[in-house]
Amino acid sequence: MVALIRPECPNPAALAAGNYKESRNKDVLRASTSEKCMYCESKIEHNSFAHVEHIKPKVKYPEFEFIWDNLGYSCERCNINKGDEYEEQTPFINPYQDNPEDHIVFFGFFAFPKQGSERGEYTIKKLQLNRAGLIEARKERIEKIDMMIKATFRTTNALLRTQALAEIQQEAEKDREYSQAVKCLLVIQRILPLGVTNA
Ligand SMILES: [Zn+2]
Repeated sequence: MVALIRPECPNPAALAAGNYKESRNKDVLRASTSEKCMYCESKIEHNSFAHVEHIKPKVKYPEFEFIWDNLGYSCERCNINKGDEYEEQTPFINPYQDNPEDHIVFFGFFAFPKQGSERGEYTIKKLQLNRAGLIEARKERIEKIDMMIKATFRTTNALLRTQALAEIQQEAEKDREYSQAVKCLLVIQRILPLGVTNA
């Protein structure tokens, strides 16, 4: 998960009229996540069944159903896993408000709560951020980066190595799929410094 910047609502009238799925609004939410699920960072195809996500579930918090700051963009699986649950004492990590890196860390393809974060643990468990499909997809991504790292450090040409390192670093940018897992790998491999925020 990566920190996101909430865009302005392009069509507040539609929201006020009781339509939280209006296409212009949905489009900017999608753009704000770089076409990824706000929780699991899976890329979501345009024609797939993506959800306008209610951060506080609309069943439990009907007063937030048409509030822009309560809306996001998520994949079907995360949306279903989250369901109607929401704990005020342990709220799900909200990438529009929280820095997810304060709560979740990746070791290889697995997500772990950072330094005992209860919110991180609850979010990982309830959304099933270590579900089989995600592990598979992250594994593929991590293995590709691992090959790039090997090739980079085995080259003796300094210029080629510098170029290759820059390419690897781009793989951790926040518009890339599973960028937090990639970033954690690059920190472990000393390719990115500890504590850098992915731009
Ligand atoms: Zn998801």
